[in-house]
Amino acid sequence: MRTKIVAGNWKMNKTASEAAALIAGIRREVAEVSGVEVVVCPPFTDLKDAAAACAGSNVALGAQNVHWKASGAFTGEISAAMLKDLGVTHVIIGHSERRQYFGETDETVNQRTRAALAAGLVPIVCVGETLAERDAGQMEAVVVRQTLAGLAGLGGDVAKVVIAYEPVWAIGTGRTATPEQAQEVHALIRRTLAGLAGAAVAETIRIQYGGSMKPENAKELMAQPDIDGGLIGGAALEAESFAAIVRAGV
Ligand code: PEP
Repeated sequence: MRTKIVAGNWKMNKTASEAAALIAGIRREVAEVSGVEVVVCPPFTDLKDAAAACAGSNVALGAQNVHWKASGAFTGEISAAMLKDLGVTHVIIGHSERRQYFGETDETVNQRTRAALAAGLVPIVCVGETLAERDAGQMEAVVVRQTLAGLAGLGGDVAKVVIAYEPVWAIGTGRTATPEQAQEVHALIRRTLAGLAGAAVAETIRIQYGGSMKPENAKELMAQPDIDGGLIGGAALEAESFAAIVRAGV
């Protein structure tokens, strides 16, 4: 049985003090929840306060990116050791906004994933096709390519990764993939993982769905056999809606 994992991707939202208040609200809301892993991923500047706000709770802390080098002349970047030192346990890698606006490639996704694993962080590796790619019949090729390239050369560490399937056309648009559409791609990703690491390992890897997941559609999506949680954008910015999605995963 895979434990479901629901993570909030706050993107560039919330100051440090706002983050502490939001986490306090989430903690209250999910205190009694068990059987679902809960993660919040605030901006880098919030992480120190966020770690204090998460301490002693069932809310884990994630970051939204990580550089692949340990240290050095990389102005503006953050290393895995820096995250780890703050109490971060998870990190989102290869979000479509980073691929679209910041030149993220399959190769840099792979390098970041390796660095995260080497530091003992759980990488949440994002894959997903654009609307143009889906309309051109390329969904399968894109998702398989991103999965294989992002996880290349990890060996047994593949088992430690979380995948987030996020169709780009569903992110922040209010347009959600139907449970059937999402399940089809999640099953494809699991088959791809089986090819990479064997069927037994693939069965243990969590695959989150992301893209306009909200309290109203979360239960139906997470009821699909290969959907093991959610990566939540907009609905993660309010304690009540985020907690409702977490409860939908119980
Ligand atoms: C995301 O950006 O990871 C995301 C899923 O956003 P939203 O839930 O707002 O579509």
